[in-house]
Amino acid sequence: MAVAPLACGAMSGTVVQIGAGSEEGAQRADRPRPAQRALVLNVTYEPVSIVSQRRALVLVLSDKVEMLHGSGDVVRSARLHFDLPSVVRLRYHVRVPYRRRAPLTRRAVFARDGHRCVYCNRPAECIDHVQPRSRGGEHVWENVVAACRVCNLRKGDKDLSATPYRLARTPVAPPALSWVALAVSRVPEDWTPYLPGDVPIPA
Ligand SMILES: [Zn+2]
Repeated sequence: MAVAPLACGAMSGTVVQIGAGSEEGAQRADRPRPAQRALVLNVTYEPVSIVSQRRALVLVLSDKVEMLHGSGDVVRSARLHFDLPSVVRLRYHVRVPYRRRAPLTRRAVFARDGHRCVYCNRPAECIDHVQPRSRGGEHVWENVVAACRVCNLRKGDKDLSATPYRLARTPVAPPALSWVALAVSRVPEDWTPYLPGDVPIPA
């Protein structure tokens, strides 16, 4: 198996407590919730980043961004309450110097491959290197696929052509803006007007 960096195992998930930030007097919710994120748009409405909703609120309060959509979640202190942003827009233009490539993560690979094994189409459980790393295979989008445990084990460290396994689809890097959809487990409705139609939405 050539699965070192993203081997089979339990899916990891980020859980944070709303209200557990450093803001003095902020109210702590009594149940954990998934990390809430805010989409940051350039002045031209092009997505440039994703930050925590708390970070986005700080940007709003320091007048670096305007809030386009609130999340409906509220942070309260003794006297004030603030709507946590879901989408904010920078007040100045930032130059994005390169087409950002989607980060290669287990979740992103699963999303790209529809959570299905590329060899047998059963539910995916592992990340597999098509050309095993022991044979010089790189850890890049074009060589990393979602696979089930059985195919991953049986394929082992062999060259793909020496096995009965064939790729149902050629692995490619997702479109340039997919990093937005791949960074969150579910894309909030507020974000979709700012994303191109071909961005794959993780299940
Ligand atoms: Zn399989």
